[in-house]
Amino acid sequence: MATVDADAMPSLPGDEEPPGSEITIETIPLSPAAARGTFRRLPLLGEPSTEPAPEPAVSRRPKTDPRVRQFRRTFYRDVPDKLWNDWHWQISHRLRNLQQIERLLVLSPDEREALARAGAKLPVGITPYYMALISPHDADQPLRRTVLPSMAEFAAAPGEAQDPLGEDEDSPVPGLVHRYPDRVLLLVHDFCSTYCRYCTRSRVVGHGEIASTQARLQMGLEYIRRTPQIRDVLLSGGDPLTLSDDKLAWILSELRRIPHVEFVRLGTKVPVVLPQRITPALCRMLRRFHPLWISIHLTHPDECTPEAFQACGRLADAGIPLGSQTVLLKGVNDDVETMRRLMHELLKMRVRPYYLYQCDPILGSAHFRTPIAKGLEIIEGLRGHTTGYAVPHFVVDAPGGGGKIPLLPDYVVGREGDDLLLRNYEGKVFRYPDSAAEPAPANVEP
Ligand code: SF4
Repeated sequence: MATVDADAMPSLPGDEEPPGSEITIETIPLSPAAARGTFRRLPLLGEPSTEPAPEPAVSRRPKTDPRVRQFRRTFYRDVPDKLWNDWHWQISHRLRNLQQIERLLVLSPDEREALARAGAKLPVGITPYYMALISPHDADQPLRRTVLPSMAEFAAAPGEAQDPLGEDEDSPVPGLVHRYPDRVLLLVHDFCSTYCRYCTRSRVVGHGEIASTQARLQMGLEYIRRTPQIRDVLLSGGDPLTLSDDKLAWILSELRRIPHVEFVRLGTKVPVVLPQRITPALCRMLRRFHPLWISIHLTHPDECTPEAFQACGRLADAGIPLGSQTVLLKGVNDDVETMRRLMHELLKMRVRPYYLYQCDPILGSAHFRTPIAKGLEIIEGLRGHTTGYAVPHFVVDAPGGGGKIPLLPDYVVGREGDDLLLRNYEGKVFRYPDSAAEPAPANVEP
């Protein structure tokens, strides 16, 4: 194992070490026989191998992103590794206003004006870790556009609404949305470590109105207890992984006590904006509540850092199935190549690409929204051109509370008699014998 230094981070004690706390590049050691240049006898079937299994390719990555190392050297040189790798420190040192951010970035006039005004609708908040991934000079850099406000946020376009999905109307108790018959969304609180400028819930997120108080959560839990058709609970917010281990364990154990709740999902962006939060202790706690699934919100391949890899690896090692959610955003990820790179990184991170969302028409989102045709073009550019697992479902959350509607490019080009004409990923047309009539029974001899 070769240790790469730079301002290498000493490990934290024991297994409480958060992602990114060591900078190592592991190489696969040669066996003594291989080092001597001799061949060894392969074990027979059933015979135990004496050779260690090779490390998977992803474990040979550096454990810290070079952008993070450079950023720390420039702006946080005096912050010891133990603090940088402490998720509480990351949260309490978020960059939240013009004065703090202009020390780190060269702001455009538009960003400067927006930062001076921001906060009324959706606060600004960026963890130091995530800020390290942001270009200091390029206001058009994709990640920068997703977390720094722009003046376009303050302009309402036709068709936009504060609550376009009508969640408030489907809310029988505060902070709980019951839209589909068998599942509910429980907003555990409205806090996120980093705020996305296109957030669907910008009307509530970050305002401190949805608190994780026991009294409010009990109301949601009580509603779930007395509604036996609910078999699936999604915890979201705000970001549930910014709760303490104890609070989250309490919510999960209360849900586990409800016999009709079959499984629980968490929606989070923490593994990519605050990977330090994914500690072994958190994973040990979460694995007590299986079946538990996690949907991770990613936007761009630039988020797939060694730290995010390690965070997702820990969750996957805890037996938690991971899926992704990505919002299609103009000028951020609205091209096939960017999306393909993101989906490929996700597979390497053991995260199954799940949803690609059309951006919801919240107030001030026109600068982020693409035509529906763009999403279809991206799906068409992926399907057949890469692994099927790498193709997410493209969905529109219907304004007014209609729920998610999947959209697919049109692969059926027509019908000729009993033949269905289908177009493949290369544009070639094929016939499928799709007889409308039931086939005649075979003439079987008695
Ligand atoms: S992480 Fe999710 S809830 Fe939080 S600001 Fe981003 S989109 Fe909104």
